[in-house]
Amino acid sequence: MTLDVPTLVLMLVVGFGLLTLLLEMAGRGGLQRGELRRLSGAARSFCGGFLCFAVQPWLPAWLTLLAGNLLLMLGLAQLASAVCWHLLNRGLRVWQHWLLAGATLAIPFILDASTPARAGTMSAAMAALLLPATVMALRQGWRGELSFRVVALMLLLANLALVLRVCFAVWWAGGGHLPAGTSTFWSSAIFMLAFMAVLAAGFGFVLAGFERMAAQMRELASVDGLTGAVNHNTAVSLLAHSLERGRRENQPVSFVMLDLDHFKRVNDQHGHVVGDQVLKAVAACTRARLRGSDVLGRLGGEEFGLVLPATGVAGAKHLAEQVRLAVEALELKGDGGQPLRVTLSAGVAQASKSDTPETLMHLADKALYQAKQKGRNRVIVADDWMRNSTLQSVVG
Ligand code: GH3
Ligand code: MG
Ligand code: MG
Repeated sequence: MTLDVPTLVLMLVVGFGLLTLLLEMAGRGGLQRGELRRLSGAARSFCGGFLCFAVQPWLPAWLTLLAGNLLLMLGLAQLASAVCWHLLNRGLRVWQHWLLAGATLAIPFILDASTPARAGTMSAAMAALLLPATVMALRQGWRGELSFRVVALMLLLANLALVLRVCFAVWWAGGGHLPAGTSTFWSSAIFMLAFMAVLAAGFGFVLAGFERMAAQMRELASVDGLTGAVNHNTAVSLLAHSLERGRRENQPVSFVMLDLDHFKRVNDQHGHVVGDQVLKAVAACTRARLRGSDVLGRLGGEEFGLVLPATGVAGAKHLAEQVRLAVEALELKGDGGQPLRVTLSAGVAQASKSDTPETLMHLADKALYQAKQKGRNRVIVADDWMRNSTLQSVVG
């Protein structure tokens, strides 16, 4: 098989056409992310640009060269913008817009230049447009989605190919030439290689978009939107996981149940908006006192649970007491801006070897109930009597 330039151009038209179609379908299927809209614009521009080169034999050369290069330049700017949105949630910098404008305005002036001069200048401008996005993708993208690494590597390859084409053009313009007049072919082939890498980056980008959306869906499904604590189901499964691990590694596991005191009154006197702010502040204040391996869960309305791996009952009680004092000291504002104080009660329980998440939570709930009974704003540790009655109620 011999690869000639028109075949390579057609392959790129088809490739970018397919990418456009894929992004269109993904958008209609609900994947409407800002960066993918920009990528879709880039894919359209690339497809249009290579289409201009494909019809070159039938149209004036200056027209196809002008339109094709303009579209490719625009596509690269849109691709760079998509990378910025994906990694930093912002568009291109002002200087990048100026660079695009400058490169675009320069195109008509170099159409009459010799082939090496034209190829070198266009490739240098394209590399300059793509380079900041490539550096950003390599530096920041490495920490994100796995599939974005493909994007970073392909952008690097595209840049290297464009720089190689510039070097080749300089050598060619300086009098160097390949045997049997193949210089034009190699200059074009390197250019096509750069855009094949861009095409691969585009497909990698679609995968990264899906990967990010899946992660966000998982987070939405497991995290409470108001307080940022994990929801009830997730807290229970994380507790089950901690119990299992505690048994395997012979480490204690404790659970603390927290409940705001007279929270109904806060809502009644100050309204639900203030109530929500209080819940947020209490969650943040509690989270600030946890270790990385501890979990804060919102079990229901104004009730929170702490899953504490590798923590015995003394450590759990100490932590609960610290949280209680910190919440008591919170300086909140009521409906009319007046000072508002809240307190909470806590029930603490350490897991036994045979505890399930349900029995341990039940036990902590018993201790919490006693804290409420004894006058609230206190921490109570579950005792043997509570454990026996919990077992009886679970068995019964
Ligand atoms: P106790 O000291 O016995 O716990 O009294 P309490 O008033 O805190 O307890 P109760 O369970 O009777 O009331 C809980 C209240 O929490 C009822 C409801 O109005 C409020 N609540 C539950 N979820 C939310 C929420 O998401 N936002 C707000 N603002 N209030 C909530
Ligand atoms: Mg309450
Ligand atoms: Mg409650």
